[in-house]
Amino acid sequence: MTPFDAVLFDLDGTLCRRTQDTDRIYQSAFERVGVEPFGKSESLWATLRGPPDHDDRVGYIGAGFARLAAQHDRTGVDTLALAEALTDLVDDSQVALRAGAETALDSATAAGAVGLVTNGPERRQRTKLDALGITDRFETRVYAFDLPRRKPHAAPFDRALDALETTPDRALFVGNSLAYDVAGAHNAGLPVAWLSNGEGAEPYSPDHVLESIGALDSLLAGRQ
Ligand SMILES: [Mg+2]
Repeated sequence: MTPFDAVLFDLDGTLCRRTQDTDRIYQSAFERVGVEPFGKSESLWATLRGPPDHDDRVGYIGAGFARLAAQHDRTGVDTLALAEALTDLVDDSQVALRAGAETALDSATAAGAVGLVTNGPERRQRTKLDALGITDRFETRVYAFDLPRRKPHAAPFDRALDALETTPDRALFVGNSLAYDVAGAHNAGLPVAWLSNGEGAEPYSPDHVLESIGALDSLLAGRQ
C-alpha cells in the first residue's frame, strides 16, 4: 500500500527530454544571423550561468554567447541576435518521454491523484505536454512561470496540493533538480524522490533517490 494520496511531477528532465539536434540549431543560429560560427553548443551550455531565466531567455542566452565570443576573440558579434535566432529555433513540440515515464505515470495514477508542478510558462509547457500526449494525465497543472513565485518557493507546490485537496505529508514530489525540486518540495513540506543524474545529492537530502523515472513504480509499491 502506498503511503501517498498524490504524486506531483516536475516536467523537464523528469518526464521528458528534448529530441532536437542541439548542434544543428546552434549552427543554424549563426547561419540566420550571417555570422561565421565560433564555439560549440556544449561550450555555450557550459558558459550559461545560474538557473535558466524564463523571463528573458534571449538575454540569458545572449550573455552566454557574449562570454563565448570573448573567449574566441569575436567581441564585435551581435550576440543578442544570435540568442534570438537560437531561441526561435528551439521547438517545444520536439520532445520525448524519458524511458520509464509511462510506467511512472501509470503507477502514480494507481496510487492516487497526479499533478504537475513546472517552472515553465503554460504556452511552452503545454506544447510539450500535448506533443507527448500526457496533458490529461494530470488532475492539476501548475505552470509557475505564470505565478508570482516559482520553485524552489513553496507556493507552486501549495497550489497543486490545494487543487488536489491533499496535504504535504500525503504527497510525494518527483523531480530531477536538487536546487528547484528537492529544495522546493522540502520548503513546502513534501517528501521528494530525486531522479539522480549519477552524481551525489549533497548538500541536499532527497528522501528517495531514483536511478530512473521507471523506478518510481517500486517506490510507490513500497519495494524501495
Ligand atoms: Mg526538471
